[in-house]
Amino acid sequence: MKFWLKIFWPVFILFTCAFYAGIFLTAQFSYKNSLNTSREQAFAQHKFIAASLSKDLDAISGRTEGEERQKAVLSLVEYYVETYENQTTSIQLFQGGKSLNDIPQNLPMSDTLKTPSDSRRSVVLGDGDRQYIAVTGTVQNDYVLIYAYDITQLVGAQKRLIKALLLSCIIIELITTVLLYFLIKYLTKPIKTLQDATSRIAAGEYGVRAEVRGNDEIAALASQFNGMAAEVSARIEEQTQLSLARQQFIDNLAHELKTPLTAIYSNAELLQTTKFSDDDLIDATSQIMRQTNRIQDMSKKLLDIALNRKLKIEKKPVDLKSLFQKIKEEMSPTFNQKGLDLILCCDADFIFGDASLIENLLVNLLDNAVKASKTKGTIYLSSRRRKDSVVIELRDQGIGIRKEQLNSIFEPFYRTDFARAKSSERGGAGLGLALCKQIADLHGAEIKVQSVPGKGTTFTLIFTTPQQLNENSMTA
Ligand code: ADP
Repeated sequence: MKFWLKIFWPVFILFTCAFYAGIFLTAQFSYKNSLNTSREQAFAQHKFIAASLSKDLDAISGRTEGEERQKAVLSLVEYYVETYENQTTSIQLFQGGKSLNDIPQNLPMSDTLKTPSDSRRSVVLGDGDRQYIAVTGTVQNDYVLIYAYDITQLVGAQKRLIKALLLSCIIIELITTVLLYFLIKYLTKPIKTLQDATSRIAAGEYGVRAEVRGNDEIAALASQFNGMAAEVSARIEEQTQLSLARQQFIDNLAHELKTPLTAIYSNAELLQTTKFSDDDLIDATSQIMRQTNRIQDMSKKLLDIALNRKLKIEKKPVDLKSLFQKIKEEMSPTFNQKGLDLILCCDADFIFGDASLIENLLVNLLDNAVKASKTKGTIYLSSRRRKDSVVIELRDQGIGIRKEQLNSIFEPFYRTDFARAKSSERGGAGLGLALCKQIADLHGAEIKVQSVPGKGTTFTLIFTTPQQLNENSMTA
């Protein structure tokens, strides 16, 4: 059963019962009230007639005897009937259970009424068409006086009242039912709206939100539902992005592996199937070695990225001066090959982090700077302390990076057009900066890049973690 019907039916049934019970009780109460008034009047009248009759009977019994007395009593009864009977009242006098005057046909008198009793009492009599209140009481021990008061009109008025009330009840109930229907529909509409929104979200429309109207419990529920829906859709979006990124990663990896593997295979096939000169041999084996190096470099970086993902680094003071010096010495053959100069400037001596990861990061940045530089250029590696951070900067005078590519260079497998064009020569697969970013993130550091094509590129690392600050103050 629908929710609004679950409210409608009980309210309708309760309302109907209460309404009709109220009407019935009111009608009953007013009838009883009128009946009591009529009964009191009948009692009073009976009392008055009985007292007067008693006096007259006393007078007759003092004056007459035997048959003469009986005649006098009958003519007295006749006189009382003429005096007190009218359209709505009648009186009856009994002696020894026998009526001394005519009983109206429609007045059903029971024997108990005709029997003398100690006290005055009343009953409601009826013959179907007419209704009476009959008050009975003993007069002078021998006689029973019954005073009947016609209440047919009262009963008729009561019936008419009940009919009118019933008719108005039906009309009022019809109007109330229609109003109740619209009221419940209106009040339960937000639940229906909420239900529609839930169904649409379940069907995949994650942008749908429930309307929040007013500030009652349903409005609170709708707003909580919207919060939940936003959270769910954000999670789903996140998962979708993640799975897209994963798919992209796999596609890129497959693509990046295909090029060197094809080159290795075709050079090996060439050596196996053709007669080759010494120069051909050197060419083919050099190609094989270069491509193997490329795969090695790629797998090392991928492994590093994978391992770093689960790594919880233990931060210790890293002596930047010695680290810069060490890197310079280890990379000097690479620099010398291109006739490059590496200028070091170390104003901030320490940062707080993992020395080998920081070294990996700087080597990757320097490697890129070397690849991007023309021969006989200069590369600057410096560190300096700011008020609330330590900044490491690496500046080259190489080919630079175009503005629109700056946002993408930290994504795995992203390479600039220049690098892609010279892919086999440069050997990178676009993983170096992704690794650098990951290491910076692990240290809570920020990595920024600025570049002017044809003039050079500057990478800036900003270490600002609280531990970093402690270390700063420790070493200041
Ligand atoms: P790879 O591992 O192939 O070197 P990276 O992720 O390190 O790739 O770099 C991404 C892209 O950014 C590469 O195509 C590279 O050419 C370019 N890039 C990185 N550093 C510099 C730089 N200092 N100057 C110019 N281009 C750079």
